[in-house]
Amino acid sequence: MRRSGWIGTAVGLVVVLLVTVGGYQLISARSYQLAGELVDRVDTPQKVVALTLDDGPSDRTPEVLRVLADLDVPATFYLNGRDIDARPEHARSIVEAGHELGNHTYTHRRMVFVSPGVVREEVEKTDTAIRAAGYQGSITFRPPYGKKLWFLPKYLSDHDRTTVMWDVEPDSGVTAKAATIAEQAVRETRPGSVILLHVMYGNAAESLAAIPRIVEDLRAQGYRFVTVSELIGG
Ligand SMILES: [Zn+2]
Repeated sequence: MRRSGWIGTAVGLVVVLLVTVGGYQLISARSYQLAGELVDRVDTPQKVVALTLDDGPSDRTPEVLRVLADLDVPATFYLNGRDIDARPEHARSIVEAGHELGNHTYTHRRMVFVSPGVVREEVEKTDTAIRAAGYQGSITFRPPYGKKLWFLPKYLSDHDRTTVMWDVEPDSGVTAKAATIAEQAVRETRPGSVILLHVMYGNAAESLAAIPRIVEDLRAQGYRFVTVSELIGG
């Protein structure tokens, strides 16, 4: 009896492990979720690519906008409602520069084991902040840390909201240098790719410094930069 009890425990542990690993992969999957439309890249023969910039707006916004203006390149900013409310002038300047704004939740929390009420508040308060900044275009959604499970995808699906992930993430290493970030982005970009960079907080200076090389190298290869809405709409 003791032996079979031990085997039962072992089998139980393996099952728990498999469910945990499987669950984690589901929560973190870039190209799959349980409900609603999710995009990590677009299948197209055209050399189009979207540059997406996560978090903020922070006080780095003027510098970010200057780099993009010098290159005349459009970007899609996934912003946090809390940061918009704290620095509305930065959000307005992003809108005035003609870039696209996306919803990245209000408080940048992991949207995994959260109630439907929390999901609604995180999404809607951020939409309100984005509209208050003067943005009139369509608003796609990107989950913080790329994490989602059930109530979030369900809510987004019920509200016809597209979830936008990414297929090129060159600055996930916290100490990556600009040259390495640019090299990886250029190497991994394919027609229809979505590049993710963090230019507001953390290793932001290196990520921002990588943008001119990414844009110049990809343009030299014939790529055209578009917003996320343009990418998924056409
Ligand atoms: Zn984020």
